Amino acid sequence: MITPWIGSKKILVIPVIVTGSAQYLPPPADWLALIKRRIYYDPHPTSGVDRSLRGYIHAISCGKAQLVADVSEPIRIPVAADGSCRTGAAIQAHPHAHLYEFACVIFTDGPHNCGGMAAWGGLFTFSPPRPGNILHGRTRVKLSEQMGVWAMELLHAVTGFGDLYFTNPHPGRFDEMACACGTHPSAYTKMYMGWINASTIPFVETVLHKEYLLYAVGLLQPPPPQYVSALKIPIGTLGHYYIVECRLRVDQFEKQTEGCSAGIPSEGVIVNEVDPSGPSPLTLKTTVALTTGQNLTLPDIGASIEVKEAVNGGYRIAVQLSATVVCGTLKNQIAVLEAIIVRSQQQLETAAPAQKKAILNRINRDQEKIRMLNIEMTELGCSTD
Ligand SMILES: [Zn+2]
Repeated sequence: MITPWIGSKKILVIPVIVTGSAQYLPPPADWLALIKRRIYYDPHPTSGVDRSLRGYIHAISCGKAQLVADVSEPIRIPVAADGSCRTGAAIQAHPHAHLYEFACVIFTDGPHNCGGMAAWGGLFTFSPPRPGNILHGRTRVKLSEQMGVWAMELLHAVTGFGDLYFTNPHPGRFDEMACACGTHPSAYTKMYMGWINASTIPFVETVLHKEYLLYAVGLLQPPPPQYVSALKIPIGTLGHYYIVECRLRVDQFEKQTEGCSAGIPSEGVIVNEVDPSGPSPLTLKTTVALTTGQNLTLPDIGASIEVKEAVNGGYRIAVQLSATVVCGTLKNQIAVLEAIIVRSQQQLETAAPAQKKAILNRINRDQEKIRMLNIEMTELGCSTD
């Protein structure tokens, strides 16, 4: 289950010194200061842009998500005899870890295998059990792993959103949850994280040709009124659709920035196929983003997307749908409305007299919608069988 990240989330950060193994380097003298720098404020030495984890979470969520981190004093733990990571042991060794929902264990550098990883979905088991335990999301990282790795593990632990790299081609550097490289998440991911409202990612309308203004995903959301954040084009079954979005190098995360982000691979319009039954939900249809004059055909649904021109903060695109697809969509909408009407009629039988008028009005409105959809179908020459 994915939980949107809205508001502040408090993370317990536990620096851990693993002793008795050359695999774990001793901590640098300014270790705590380095960790705090990477979390709170990490200005680039020449440009001054902030590369911190907190700044990243703020930027990708447009301020909807805030990272609050309590950095504890370092904990010393002897190396495990079987060579396993001491993530759980470090959490266990912290006297107040059970009072946090999330914990991040930071290992020193070295050739050991205790790099970026996250666990979520159940309470951490303290031994002996601790009353009031709420710790469920936990992560581990190495000190010098890139910001994108820290961010990916944190986003896993806080939201339960999984990895996006199990498809081919996967979104790559167009989505932090595929690349762990410090770029913005895609529109799909931001929608599930609660940072882009689904109402600004409409389904394409049931007309054969329509133009839209796409607003870059890395810019402030919601978009200005004349724009959309992204577009969905339904493929057939529930939850299966193409999602079209615009990516521009608008900030230090969409740009390549040393010590912060690998940057998006190209600028323009990208398309992902969303298939909830796949190994991960997104498959990238445009390994290179489309720019002005380019188009993408989607033969399975007889649709095409053409990039018309660059506009302020995005692109104007045209979506062309086949009559077959539009007829199918209209037919589905009518079927949904008919089912709603049947349910309303059932409610009418048991409704209190005061409610009957509202239900009747609703039935009339839905019948009128069906009438309009039928007119549209006739105009398009859809078969009615
Ligand atoms: Zn991951």
